[in-house]
Amino acid sequence: MHFKEDLFKFSIIYNIIPLKLLLKLSKKNIIFPFYHFVNDGENSLVNNLYKPKTKEQFIKDIQYLKKHFTSLSVKDLKQEKSNLDNFGFFLSFDDGLANFYKIVAPILLKEKIFCINFLNSNFIDNKQLFYRYKVNLSINYIRENTLSIDQIEAINDLFDLDFFNKEDICTLLRKVSINESNILDKLSKILKISFSEFLINKKPYLSGLQVLKLKEKGFDFGAHSKNHPRYSQISVKDQLLETVESVEVIKTQFNLDDSFFSFPFSDDGVKNDFFNKIKSKKITTFGSAGLKDEDISSHFQRIPMEYNSIYSAETIIKGELIFYIIKKILNKHKIQRD
Ligand SMILES: [Zn+2]
Repeated sequence: MHFKEDLFKFSIIYNIIPLKLLLKLSKKNIIFPFYHFVNDGENSLVNNLYKPKTKEQFIKDIQYLKKHFTSLSVKDLKQEKSNLDNFGFFLSFDDGLANFYKIVAPILLKEKIFCINFLNSNFIDNKQLFYRYKVNLSINYIRENTLSIDQIEAINDLFDLDFFNKEDICTLLRKVSINESNILDKLSKILKISFSEFLINKKPYLSGLQVLKLKEKGFDFGAHSKNHPRYSQISVKDQLLETVESVEVIKTQFNLDDSFFSFPFSDDGVKNDFFNKIKSKKITTFGSAGLKDEDISSHFQRIPMEYNSIYSAETIIKGELIFYIIKKILNKHKIQRD
């Protein structure tokens, strides 16, 4: 990921290359950009995790994509529009945030862009909070408040530290995995922040009703696991459970015809064994490795559009295409799985 971001910093040089030439050289005619969140001014959810685009920046991205690619729907993708006379883009959003309903959907409806939204079945209706958002809220609190001596001592005990330094705690918090999320709950007690109150007051996730309203407007939905674990950190048995059960719940709850699934975080470390075992379920799956080819015909790699700095759609898409062309020359453009 770092190399790609380094490449994006040279966009002044490479953005003079015509997009059509890069698409021709790469032989790619469909791209899969994806986002999570569009910042409309209020952002206490992801501000310490990555830098989301503002409404204006997002609209610019969409207009760039629209100018050079045709927006593809699930139906288009199913019909495998490989004989597309134009280039296509298949847009998706992960994590099922209410931000999509309030900010993103009106923009996409106006621009006539199709989008699929991947939901975590345990989080719909604000039932639970993703552990990374707990990290984000904790960092916000630590940075914005003066902590008491008792709180500092309790935090030092929790992290087994001798010295207290706010930024060190924030770095440690960023490294917390889903298996250590009890640390976040303990910390919330020390800081006296309530995640359940945050869920009730802020309602960060889409409600079931909002999903149905969006479905009526033409948006589609898929699953994004139950609990958003990092698949490389859980067993194949749990990977299957998280995948199959979340797809089933979302299909049933929202009366969906197709089975779509995007891997939480990424599909890094997901082996052929997993894909062989879900074959019979006929689930179309999506990763987030950027422009890369897959041997599995029902699995597509998507292009992340959010980083720690803001890059325009042109910079990201052209950078991904250049990176892909280089990888192709080195024969490293295909995902290798055990
Ligand atoms: Zn996610």
